[in-house]
Amino acid sequence: MRLDDLDRIRVRPGADEQQLADLAAFGLDWDGAVIRQSERLDLYAQALAQLDAGGVLYPCYCTRREIREAASAPHGALPEGAYPGTCRDLSSAERADRERDGRPPALRIRAGAAVVSFTDRLLGEHSGVVDDLVVRRNDGAPAYNLAVVVDDSAQGIGEIVRGADLLHTTARQLHVGTLLDLPAPRHAHVPLVLGPDGTRLAKRHGAVTLADRAAAGESPLQVRSRLAASLGLAAAGELPSMAQLLERFDPAALPSEPTVLAP
Ligand SMILES: [Zn+2]
Repeated sequence: MRLDDLDRIRVRPGADEQQLADLAAFGLDWDGAVIRQSERLDLYAQALAQLDAGGVLYPCYCTRREIREAASAPHGALPEGAYPGTCRDLSSAERADRERDGRPPALRIRAGAAVVSFTDRLLGEHSGVVDDLVVRRNDGAPAYNLAVVVDDSAQGIGEIVRGADLLHTTARQLHVGTLLDLPAPRHAHVPLVLGPDGTRLAKRHGAVTLADRAAAGESPLQVRSRLAASLGLAAAGELPSMAQLLERFDPAALPSEPTVLAP
């Protein structure tokens, strides 16, 4: 169990304890102590040092707005919104200029528009073009795309199962892993659960947390049963045990389309 809590601004105090309590109420358990990324900064610093020693890092002084404006122009093979490499080949004089302006730099990887291909267990062959992604943010914090790669390897994770909304980050993360000489994990990107309007399930769809459901008279086990039924793992109203669910679970039978949650 790992809490990806590097984005301090967005982490609400107590939210992590609530998430762990919700998972426990669902009947999920995990091996060992809970790992928090905010307590592993030295590991990410080591990885950054390794990348730096490999000569693939460069400082980027761009503001969000500059990146948005630069990224809206077409840039050959790079995907829409990709960083076009504005700061990739600055001279030392140009870097000194920007340092004098007091702009704190982020660190980016010189990715060379690498094309990374992988086989997703559910989606099949997939490939992505890697742009010069940020590995250390301009506030000094390690970037998500660095931290998850370091941690997945350190935790011995061989297969990553996650929402299809993260598919666009996979080529980047595999590329970072290659640069760090880490073994590549396998991936299975599962379709999301959507609200009745077909958009990603969110607060505006009403009672979507376990606490909301409890207030509406639905227990965590009933919610679990409803989710299981949406995957064909339970009959409507049946309350299968975790052991039964595990026995019934078949990755090959996972839906390839998003599930729309009935109101
Ligand atoms: Zn830049």
